[in-house]
Amino acid sequence: MHTTFSALNRVAYIDTLSSETFDLLVIGGGITGAGIALDAASRGMKVALIEQLDFASGTSSRSTKLIHGGLRYLKQLEIALVHETGTERAILHKNAPHIVSPENMLLPIIEKGSLGKFSTSMGLWVYDYLAGVKEGERRKMLNKEETLNAEPLLRNDIVLGGGLYKEYRTDDARLTIEVLKTAVQHGATALNYVKATEFQYEQNKITAVVAEDIFSKKQFTIKAAKIVNAAGPWVDTLRKEDQSLKGKSLHLTKGVHLVVPYSKLTLKQAVYFDVKDGRMIFAIPRGKVTYIGTTDTNYKGATETPTTTQEDVAYILSAVNFMFPTIKLKVEDIISTWAGLRPLIHEDGKSPSELSRKDEIFFSPSGLISIAGGKLTGFRKMAERVTNVVAKQLQKENGKTYKPCATAAMILSGGNVPGIDAHAIFNYKQKLSGEATQIQITYNQVSELVNKYGTATEKIIERAYELTGTIPDADKRILIAELDYTIEHEMVTNLNDFLVRRTGRLYFERNYILSVYQLLKEHIAERLQWTAEQQAEHDAAFKKEYNLVMQFAN
Ligand code: FAD
Repeated sequence: MHTTFSALNRVAYIDTLSSETFDLLVIGGGITGAGIALDAASRGMKVALIEQLDFASGTSSRSTKLIHGGLRYLKQLEIALVHETGTERAILHKNAPHIVSPENMLLPIIEKGSLGKFSTSMGLWVYDYLAGVKEGERRKMLNKEETLNAEPLLRNDIVLGGGLYKEYRTDDARLTIEVLKTAVQHGATALNYVKATEFQYEQNKITAVVAEDIFSKKQFTIKAAKIVNAAGPWVDTLRKEDQSLKGKSLHLTKGVHLVVPYSKLTLKQAVYFDVKDGRMIFAIPRGKVTYIGTTDTNYKGATETPTTTQEDVAYILSAVNFMFPTIKLKVEDIISTWAGLRPLIHEDGKSPSELSRKDEIFFSPSGLISIAGGKLTGFRKMAERVTNVVAKQLQKENGKTYKPCATAAMILSGGNVPGIDAHAIFNYKQKLSGEATQIQITYNQVSELVNKYGTATEKIIERAYELTGTIPDADKRILIAELDYTIEHEMVTNLNDFLVRRTGRLYFERNYILSVYQLLKEHIAERLQWTAEQQAEHDAAFKKEYNLVMQFAN
């Protein structure tokens, strides 16, 4: 059993995966698979998880990054879904306060908008009620003047009033990594860049997966009593491989977000606003940027590479310029984008926005268990449902009993900060920056690290101390300490992993990357002992991803 999560130990993990028999093998290292691995490992199962690319490189790094109940699902009368995801918000905030934090959301009510004053008031009231929001934190209705004070950039000719309510924001990819790190602490073996290519059967029952190490191209077999397909948009590819793609199937819809400098859209809080076609989109300030999205369109292209098109850009710019008319946002203002695929379940005759966000488990005659649909916010409950099924089946087959689900009260990796409210986290950041003055780290740098790594920031600071003799420049030193931490504790195998999924820099600090890329490139090549050929391959892969976010296809 390994409890480390280091890219330097890949060979040992592959050895474990190929030599042992697991109770459960999870295919897919997005939030769904990560949640299942954690739930199962913490109940005492011997768990393996494989991810064909990097953890969270599918949909789980491309969402709106909100932990939310989904106000609009109320309109679709998805009461149970809103209740479950709404309730999950406070649980995730408690378990991972460093990456799940409250966010004020303003919903402007406009002339001819999708919601009137009464329906907004009622809707937000029900939303808070279903989520069990405490008194004092519940929605506040605003008149026109108060709404425009809350957000002066809104167009004053059509705003009638507004509703102010609480949501939570997160970093989807980091949440996935923290869940995986916690699963590994409970004994799971999780490895990225390992693809499930084929299934093996005995008496028509699935018993193993043929896997390929994407780096070495070597194939090996992973044996497990139960196999869960948590492959997000690829769920049907694996069901097809298992010859069980019958009945319900996936319906992929694409969602795009645009990132602009905060100075171009200086919102005082996040805003959830109407678009002319009857949809609603978010504009969310985040440090030095504001991001806006999302679109929701049918998708038929390659699952690996959803990209932003000119039409997506035009849709979002038109919506935002309509609601905030003075900002006059242009294509040239965009500094990054991302596009993701929702792995939804097809329902005849429904448009992308009408499709349910509920999750569903599919059972194949071979024993393969597939989970599809759902939301980032609901991952813990989805995992509980799948793990309940797995535990029941295992108990029936081998007589073993497993502990009940314990994730509701499980602090995630990095989350054991002293207190979950903003004040406690501020004090913690101040304490750390006060203690680390010798390595000339600023409060802002500590704050950014704590917002990503929580209490693991202490390990990064320790590493920066070790590097004092070798890297004299303080900014470079802390950056390299961060990279080292992610290689040794978060399975970073290349700069895409580091700059996209572990740190979000490609989306939120794309320009900054150029100024440090050479330094990072040389360091990671040395740490992972890349040959010149490997260096060139990784370099090309990074440049491709770096450019792709700003290439808007026709
Ligand atoms: P994924 O994250 O795609 O993970 C599946 C993984 O399986 C992938 O990493 C893939 O590489 C891997 N895989 C596939 N095939 C194989 C194989 N053969 N071998 C090994 N690995 C394999 N939800 C919210 O709660 N809040 C939001 O704000 C929100 N906003 C969204 C905005 C957009 C634009 C989109 C698209 C979705 C949004 N969602 C949101 C939904 C949420 O992001 C998804 O429900 C969730 O991320 C899906 O996670 P997943 O693990 O099921 O899929």
